[in-house]
Amino acid sequence: MNIESKIPNISKHLKNDYDYFEPNELSKKGLCVPQIMLDYGKIQNKIKSIPRIGRYMAGSINQLNKSYNSLYNQPKNSLTTISDKDLNDLKDYCKTLDILDIGFCKVDPSYIFSNRKILFDKALVFSMAMKRDIIKTAPSKPVEKEIMFTYYKLNVAVNLIKDFLYDRGYKAQAGPALGGEVNYPLLAQSAGMGAIGKHGLLITPSHGPSIRLAAVYTDIENLPINEINKHLWIKDFCERCNRCVKKCPANAIFENTQILSDGTKKHIDYKKCALPFSTQYGCTVCVKECTFFINSYDKIKKSYLK
Ligand code: SF4
Ligand code: SF4
Repeated sequence: MNIESKIPNISKHLKNDYDYFEPNELSKKGLCVPQIMLDYGKIQNKIKSIPRIGRYMAGSINQLNKSYNSLYNQPKNSLTTISDKDLNDLKDYCKTLDILDIGFCKVDPSYIFSNRKILFDKALVFSMAMKRDIIKTAPSKPVEKEIMFTYYKLNVAVNLIKDFLYDRGYKAQAGPALGGEVNYPLLAQSAGMGAIGKHGLLITPSHGPSIRLAAVYTDIENLPINEINKHLWIKDFCERCNRCVKKCPANAIFENTQILSDGTKKHIDYKKCALPFSTQYGCTVCVKECTFFINSYDKIKKSYLK
């Protein structure tokens, strides 16, 4: 069965005569999680979760459609330079939406999924934290609910942020947390918000990998684009740690991150991950067991530097 074709996709909403940004030869196809669960896991177990998480899934699909439907309602005579006041107001607004951190970057075309496109090549990247006390119980039903709830809240947030930018006269496209067009860990790493760990997730200074990510794309030219990433030492730390590799119940995390023939990296065997992911409430053991979830960033960095 082809579930992928039934999931909303931006390609159906893009007008041919519009200038958009496309993937390149290094881009990878975005993972379709329900399809992977169907092909390699036990999707019937996930279906049993619907009474628990169905409303958040439906809400997220709603937000995805909202994002697509507003693609061409962009403000007329839009601004491409953002004022300090608007940027500060935006940051304050994000706090009211429970956004944890904001990063800014130019989108590398290789980060765009090979079957997707975006309207603008600058990104505001947003993280939202999942509740620590709940994630500690992984794998569990409350964790599965927390993940879907965070996705939903973040999907709502990026649409509201897009509306905020529209109202102030800027063009924008909401990139939802679930069903997005771009590889978010790579985007957030490029925005300097953290570094990708051995488990393939973004490790952040304040919450380790216990976050979800989304983005808003825009043509604003003077965003405070990140130039350096001060968290990349984490990659070297991961080489000595390997805790997630040992704790993963499916041996799905590669001890030696695979370097593919085109030079891109593969951290996880998704076919192996699919079984615990579908039968154990989204698993999430790699988040709970990550050294950066258990210990503080500053403490780990101090001992690493020794
Ligand atoms: S979700 Fe579970 S099975 Fe998948 S990589 Fe993480 S720990 Fe391994
Ligand atoms: S558990 Fe260790 S090896 Fe795995 S991502 Fe976290 S820090 Fe890196």
